[in-house]
Amino acid sequence: VNPEEDQKKINARMAQVKHKICVLSGKGGVGKSTVAVNLATALADAGKQVGLLDIDIHGPSVPTMLGLGTTPLVSNADSVDPIHVGNLKVMSVGFLSQNEDEAFIWRGPMKMGVIKQFLGDVEWGELDYLIVDCPPGTGDEPLSICQLIEEPDGAVIVTTPQQVATVDVRKSLTFCNKLSMPVLGIVENMSGFACPKCGEVVEIFNTGGGEKMAADFRVPFLGKLPIDPAIGKACDAGLPFIQSHAATETAHMLREIIRPF
Ligand code: ADP
Repeated sequence: VNPEEDQKKINARMAQVKHKICVLSGKGGVGKSTVAVNLATALADAGKQVGLLDIDIHGPSVPTMLGLGTTPLVSNADSVDPIHVGNLKVMSVGFLSQNEDEAFIWRGPMKMGVIKQFLGDVEWGELDYLIVDCPPGTGDEPLSICQLIEEPDGAVIVTTPQQVATVDVRKSLTFCNKLSMPVLGIVENMSGFACPKCGEVVEIFNTGGGEKMAADFRVPFLGKLPIDPAIGKACDAGLPFIQSHAATETAHMLREIIRPF
C-alpha cells in the first residue's frame, strides 16, 4: 500500500473526467441516491458520457434503482470494468456483495481502500461527468472521497424539510466550506405530497427551509421535489424515475432541479 501511488492513479483517472459532482446529505434516507441516479441518467440521456459511482457503503441502493441487482464485475489485470447501461457507466459497493441482503461490516481502513480502488482502478475512460453518491453525513468516508478527488466541481446537498431544521444540513455546508468544496446547490426532497389522483402538492411539513438555508449560506437553491409514490415504485422496479415517468409533473420538477448541470 502506497498512498502516493494510489493518489497518482486516482489523479490520472480523474484527469479524464471533465466534471466531478458529489451528492451529499446530512442523514440517510433523504433521497440522495434518488437524486444521484436521476441526475446521472438525465445527463446520459442527453448524450453525455457519464459515470455513476455509488460509495454509500452502508446502503448502496444504486444497483437496485437501476435494476442491476448483484451484477458480477469483470476484473482485468489491475483494473475493473464498470457496468454499462447505455451511456452510463456504473460502479457500486453493492456489486461487491454476493448477497444483496448482506450488510457491509467493514472496518475503516478497508472502506478507505475500496473507495480508493473505485476512484483509481475502475476503467471509467473519458467522461463528461462523474456523479458520486457519497455516504451520508460528514464522517470519514465522505471526507476521504472529497479529499481524494482533486478539483471537484462541487457538491449537491440533498435534504428534506425536517432535516433542514436540524444541525445536519448546516454540518454538510460547513463540511464543504472547510474542504473548499463548492456547493453547487441544495435540493429539498420529500417536500409536500403530490396527490396521485390530481397531482396537486399538499404541504405536510413546513417547507421552504431549504430555500432559506441556501440564501443564508449564499449557495444556489436547486428546487423542491414532492413525495411521490411513483418515485418509490420506479426505484423498486429498477427504472430511473426520470425515464419511466418522464411525462409527470414530478419528473418535470426533477428536470428543473438538474437543469443547471
Ligand atoms: P438516500 O440515498 O438519501 O439514503 P434514497 O434515494 O435511497 O435515499 O431514498 C430513500 C427511499 O425513499 C427510496 O426508497 C426512494 O425511492 C424513496 N424516495 C426518495 N425520494 C422520494 C420522493 N420524493 N417521493 C417518494 N419516495 C422517495
